Amino acid sequence: MSRRVSEVDLTVGLNVEEEWRLANGDTMAVAYQLVAGETVGYLRDAVTGEPLHQASVCRLHHLVRQVETCATCPACPDPVKPCVLCGGRLCGRCVASTDGRCPACVQLRKVKLLDRGRFGVSLRGAAWHGVGPHAQVTLRRDKGRWLLERWDNAGRITAPLDSDRLLTIRRMIGDAE
Ligand SMILES: [Zn+2]
Ligand SMILES: [Zn+2]
Ligand SMILES: [Zn+2]
Repeated sequence: MSRRVSEVDLTVGLNVEEEWRLANGDTMAVAYQLVAGETVGYLRDAVTGEPLHQASVCRLHHLVRQVETCATCPACPDPVKPCVLCGGRLCGRCVASTDGRCPACVQLRKVKLLDRGRFGVSLRGAAWHGVGPHAQVTLRRDKGRWLLERWDNAGRITAPLDSDRLLTIRRMIGDAE
């Protein structure tokens, strides 16, 4: 790590610039301020401006507290919005359909009759399952009730689907009646 002090001002502190070598071989310039009388300088979050005690670097070299699994961050030009179908975190770079679905939801396919037991639905029910690079989504219809399940690195979320949202979702998976 090379370090050079670009400016010295005894009342304000030091502006420090460093060059970091990232795990992928890229280098990036990092600048932060050392407050007069202190020996620890903090980097600032590219989104909130708050001091970072631990920083992550996104694909566009923004310094943030945390990046998404696909290495985007909230300061990127294609920030995270919820997937219109499952509501999962989805960045603009990963959107997989013009209506705003995530890769897993675009892959939703009806589960074959004999496989339904694996998805916890009876033979009279139905299930749809889709897998994307960062998430899996399962839709279940059984005994007149619909359940959406999403599984990603943050864990598993199961939610019942109510009428309005259900109508939109059924249209998207081609199950409209
Ligand atoms: Zn970013
Ligand atoms: Zn989705
Ligand atoms: Zn993404």
